Amino acid sequence: MARVHPEIYFFGGKVAEGRASMRDLLGGKGANLAEMASLKLPVPPGFTISTQVCNYFYDHKHKYPKGLEAGVAQSVVRIEKALDKKFGNPANPLLVSVRSGARVSMPGMMDTVLNLGLNDATVEGLAAASGNPRFAWDSYRRFCQMYGDVVLKLKPENQLDRDPFEELIEQKKHRRGVAEDVQLSVDDLKELVGEFRELIRRRVGRDLPQDPKEQLWGAIGAVFDSWHNDRAIAYRKFNNIPGDWGTAVTVQAMVFGNLGDDCATGVAFTRDPSTGERGIYGEFLPNAQGEDVVAGIRTPRQISLAAGRKSAAANNVGEKQRAAQTPTLEEQFPAVYRELLKIAARLEKHFRDMQDMEFTIERGRLFMLQTRGGKRTAQAAVRTAVEMVGEKLIDKRTALTRVEPVQLEQLLHPRLDPKAQKDVIARGLPASPGAVSGAVVFSADEAVTAHQSGRHVILVRHETSPEDIHGMQVAEGILTARGGMTSHAAVVARGMGKCCVAGCSAIEIDYAAGVMHAGGRDIHRGEFITLDGATGEVMTGQVATAQPEMSVFFRTFMNWADKERRLGLRANADTPVDARVALDFGAEGIGLCRTEHMFFGPGRIDAVREMILAEDSTQRARALEKILPMQRGDFIKILRAMADKPVTIRLLDPPLHEFLPKTAEEIAKLAEITGADPERLTQIRDSLEEFNPMLGHRGARLGVSYPEIYKAQARAILEAASQLRAEGVNAIPEIMLPLIGDRKEFDLLAADIREVAKEVASRNGKKLHYTIGTMIEVPRACIEAGEIAAVADFFSFGTNDLTQMTYGLSRDDSSKFLGDYVARGIYKKDPFQELDPDGVGDLMRIAIERGRKVKKNLKLGICGEHGGDPASVKLCHRLGLDYVSCSPYRLPVARLAAAQAAIESRKSKRDFKDV
Ligand code: PEP
Ligand code: MG
Repeated sequence: MARVHPEIYFFGGKVAEGRASMRDLLGGKGANLAEMASLKLPVPPGFTISTQVCNYFYDHKHKYPKGLEAGVAQSVVRIEKALDKKFGNPANPLLVSVRSGARVSMPGMMDTVLNLGLNDATVEGLAAASGNPRFAWDSYRRFCQMYGDVVLKLKPENQLDRDPFEELIEQKKHRRGVAEDVQLSVDDLKELVGEFRELIRRRVGRDLPQDPKEQLWGAIGAVFDSWHNDRAIAYRKFNNIPGDWGTAVTVQAMVFGNLGDDCATGVAFTRDPSTGERGIYGEFLPNAQGEDVVAGIRTPRQISLAAGRKSAAANNVGEKQRAAQTPTLEEQFPAVYRELLKIAARLEKHFRDMQDMEFTIERGRLFMLQTRGGKRTAQAAVRTAVEMVGEKLIDKRTALTRVEPVQLEQLLHPRLDPKAQKDVIARGLPASPGAVSGAVVFSADEAVTAHQSGRHVILVRHETSPEDIHGMQVAEGILTARGGMTSHAAVVARGMGKCCVAGCSAIEIDYAAGVMHAGGRDIHRGEFITLDGATGEVMTGQVATAQPEMSVFFRTFMNWADKERRLGLRANADTPVDARVALDFGAEGIGLCRTEHMFFGPGRIDAVREMILAEDSTQRARALEKILPMQRGDFIKILRAMADKPVTIRLLDPPLHEFLPKTAEEIAKLAEITGADPERLTQIRDSLEEFNPMLGHRGARLGVSYPEIYKAQARAILEAASQLRAEGVNAIPEIMLPLIGDRKEFDLLAADIREVAKEVASRNGKKLHYTIGTMIEVPRACIEAGEIAAVADFFSFGTNDLTQMTYGLSRDDSSKFLGDYVARGIYKKDPFQELDPDGVGDLMRIAIERGRKVKKNLKLGICGEHGGDPASVKLCHRLGLDYVSCSPYRLPVARLAAAQAAIESRKSKRDFKDV
């Protein structure tokens, strides 16, 4: 039969006018229903009105394109013929559902109307035809309620009000003395229908339409309208879904899972969505309609016998009791079960992906109502991708695109048990993943003491500083009230693979009283809280967690990713322990070793303070003499751990105020060690305080003012490398200068390093292998990149500072208002989380072009936190960097993102050629 209208696509019986590939026009639901019909699967007949009509409807003041009304009428006749029923005819009434469906799934955001076509006459016809008056009147009751809500917009009068229809049901149950809806009699339901219609008349000023055609057009218009409801708009904004995509509307014959005990409805996956294990997995409810499964009022049963037995065993239910009280679909509907298995296998093979299907059994007959790619956990995503390659369903490249890179973080850290109860009291930034519980402590020293007595602790601070490292090391997790995604706490915690929730402005901390307030609660020192670093949630008490495990599937998957990617991968690691973790996760070198953390080790901070507060360079050199052997020892360990692999070591960067003694006690201790006058020390300390330390005396500026510091660090590095070479270890140090903005600055500091190198080499009589490069993290360095490249061996983009300085935003304080910028659509994402492709990305592009023009083989990397963010890694691939460097625990994410970037760029080159 010919198409009835260009924007209407019929499906069902032996016809399918649409295809799965037409999801832009038909929405995911409509496209896949058409596809299932084309596969001759049992799909109730229906038709889809395209997304184009949605846009037309808006652009033309709620009018429809020419001929659409006639087309819909003809399509309804086609459904009638296929089923031998009639829309609006009491003798054998056809009922339809009117469902929304965009090209990507927007779960629960738009509207649906079920049981449409019922009125005072057809309800009697349905009662007679089904032989089940209760079912007919319950369907009419549901229809009045849904139509009243979705089409006639009868809503609660204010947010605190209950749904007025539900209120009437509750009153009725109360009067009848029953607890469940199913206990209401046919007469009760009839009365309820009358009360619902009275409510509609009173509140809306019109009656529920009795004409099925009018009902149908009311519902079609309401579903198109729901594309622009507040929920859908907010969801689109959050998920970057363009407003002009529109929704399709699918009108489909109703089938009933609630006609009696030979009926059911359910949801099934072709593989277990939490483990990825092959085999049908899902739940069903006998004698129920679709929304009952989702509503969670009744407990659904398992589909397969194996899963039913497993879940009964987990709940300590005996086999006899299980089989008698909660038989599975396999037991209760064996023939339907076998058919469902066949259909599931066919759909999975056809779509070459794990499917999530909705089905209904009406009087023992199976109908498929929906199929789509199933949402799955990281573990299931990896296993499914790997096994589908083995089953020859997909190739390796497709498999690599089937897993979201950030999902991989779930595999490396404990996560909250999804079934656990939780009492959330605040939410901050999800700064570093994992789920941990511990007793609250408010200082690093307290953390250490509690840890030594065997307690698990969460370190809670306004913000952390390098001085808190020892507490962070022993804490299970870190919670800060201030600071963004690149704040000290976030960066350090990520580096340690520790859970961290940062910038949680909803908590107030009173250090002196040893208490934090959040969500109207007081939590005292020693009380337990739980953090979820994946969502930023803070919960009271100890919430159950599940441990990660690295499967053989994961290893296979990561090997495939490594073969595909072009970008090199390095880790930001400051200690030999970090270096080993990095190697385990696949690092090919260290892209950033921040030396400042070495300054805080036990027995070192005093020498560092002595160096900073020195009155002259002789005193400073004396203090540095104490630090040098310790640093050399650190470098030996890291370079040895990474033998044969490059290690980029950055010279001292943070503003000195971070190291200064703060309390009178600390000053007194230092005075004792150095023999200096405490008052004089206090004066020097005060003179070093800065208003804007992050834009102050830090990075290369320290090297310019105090050349001894960088020279001592360079000596420690070069002596370490030289000693290792003598032992036969191939150490490859790359010395990196921070915060360079001018070629002369670089020249001056590099000359100091080369002078030290000459000295070390002549003393050892051996040639030294090292390079000197720079961070590119000041906007001026990007502009001057040609000049700087002439003298630097490599560039490493420090995008934390580069973002801060490009936007003029403090990386430590801006989380307070950045959320508003994202919510109001000014920024797509927090620019400290995802590299800004326009402003910061353009500066990087300029730096790369100018740098490579002068030095063709200039080595280029990134070591800002963006190196572990998938979208940023992809941008780095497109910009042509040589490698990305990120904290060890984010390496798998970066490896996969790099592989996907290579696949995407190959594909876009191919597409380009095709054009
Ligand atoms: C950066 O600025 O991106 C960087 C890596 O350095 P830091 O975070 O230590 O300032
Ligand atoms: Mg920096």
